[in-house]
Amino acid sequence: MSHSNILKAAGFSASELSGGTLAVHSPVDGNEIARLKTHSTDDVEAMIGKGVAAFKSWRNTPAPQRGELVRLIGEELRAEKENLGRLVSLECGKIYQEGLGEVQEMIDICDFAVGLSRQLYGLTIASERPGHSMRETWHPLGLCGIITAFNFPVAPWCWNTALALVCGDPVIWKPSEKTPLAALATQKICERAMQKFGDAPAGLIQTIIGERDIGEVLTSNRDVAIISSTGSTRMGHAIGQKLAERFGRCILELGGNNAMIVAPSADLEMALRAIVFSAVGTAGQRCTTLRRLIVHEDIYDQLVPRLKSAYDGLPIGDPLDDGTLVGPLIDGDAFTGMERALEQVKADSGQVHGGGRALEGEYPAAYYATPAIAEMPGQTEIVRHETFAPILYVMKYRDFDDAIALQNGVPQGLSSCIFSTDLRETEEFLSATGSDCGSANVNIGPSGAEIGGAFGGEKDTGGGRESGSDAWKGYMRRQTNTINYSRELPLAQGIKFDI
Ligand code: NAD
Repeated sequence: MSHSNILKAAGFSASELSGGTLAVHSPVDGNEIARLKTHSTDDVEAMIGKGVAAFKSWRNTPAPQRGELVRLIGEELRAEKENLGRLVSLECGKIYQEGLGEVQEMIDICDFAVGLSRQLYGLTIASERPGHSMRETWHPLGLCGIITAFNFPVAPWCWNTALALVCGDPVIWKPSEKTPLAALATQKICERAMQKFGDAPAGLIQTIIGERDIGEVLTSNRDVAIISSTGSTRMGHAIGQKLAERFGRCILELGGNNAMIVAPSADLEMALRAIVFSAVGTAGQRCTTLRRLIVHEDIYDQLVPRLKSAYDGLPIGDPLDDGTLVGPLIDGDAFTGMERALEQVKADSGQVHGGGRALEGEYPAAYYATPAIAEMPGQTEIVRHETFAPILYVMKYRDFDDAIALQNGVPQGLSSCIFSTDLRETEEFLSATGSDCGSANVNIGPSGAEIGGAFGGEKDTGGGRESGSDAWKGYMRRQTNTINYSRELPLAQGIKFDI
């Protein structure tokens, strides 16, 4: 399908794609595919006002009815899966299969949230006083601002939105300035679902288009009760401080630097497949991309040469073509970042296999890169840094404790894994003295999480949790209630205060 037909199939008219100042380029060939109108500060303030008004009625809509809207969004997403998946691929460069996978994640979290809308359980708590009862209840918190990164243009929005909506919170979305079209297409899908729903308040689901400054309008405004933000650790520092100043609720999903330990007992066939998928998938531009491989010295010479030959055969190309496994980097800055990191590897006495620009003749304005393996003498500073490109740092270990120390010896704490069939090792990896990451997997790579679990990470990854488990609590306020149904007024802790 031509690029213009992909845009048409996603519901865009020619006039919507022109006349503005925000140029959108496809990383597939580097060509401009849209010039969008952006929102001003005043526009955003007005939209925040609409969101706050929507909250006043949405919080009173029974949660299962709120779930019905999310069910309708999921239905529309099912119908639009291919069109939106293709647009995601065109706009951010991930292969079409991964574009489809991203939309599937949206559908999955909608299903999860629909079930949740009939739960949102609180607690009953034993009171120390006779004739008293205690309970804990959960109430909607307020308008939720969602800021997202270019590499997952739509799924993280949906992890937040599906939960926020059933929890009673309206949402306002600031997508990455590099991928606003997928956001606008998703907004259209939501508009259709809201029409079918009938009486959703205006301003319940809104999208703002612009750069970082527009995101700052959201983070500074006290009427935005929650900011859930996905992106770099640099962005998280800026937003976290803003939110702390006004005691706003903050969910931060920031950079990762994910490792795999490959132990001597590992099934190397499985490990090899997991390594390649998680290190080069999305051209190394996932927060959960495998970036560090920690291999036991006894199997290093069996695994690493096979890995290199697998890298040599990787099909790099147009992400919309069947058979492509590695698409382009998002832009020239990403490619420069990769080149700089590989220079540093050499300066650190590392050995580079692969790397460099690919398909330059065919796509002079796009940035395809050959994935690189960097064999390192140790965990140098460049290894500890997240370079958002397909570079896999490989290190040797001898003692298991050293492997864990390497795994944990970086500032980020998102995802981690071990390939081993030794129960003592795998359980230690999952224990309090094992991996310090938000996700720790056994015999599975670090990327491609399911929505049923809470997703997020520790340390410089920001500490936030989204998606499954009890992440919904991040979108609600907790209230403790004490009810006295007796005819006395005993005080807690047995305090006497007679008047
Ligand atoms: P980025 O930090 O450059 O931008 C992310 C978003 O934040 C964009 O929408 C941007 O406009 C906005 N933004 C930046 N500074 C801001 C500020 N001061 N105030 C308000 N908004 C601001 O990130 P990117 O390059 O788009 O994405 C790549 C990064 O995202 C990587 O570090 C990756 O690991 C991370 N990421 C993390 C997760 C996760 O769940 N942990 C998921 C995807 C991506």
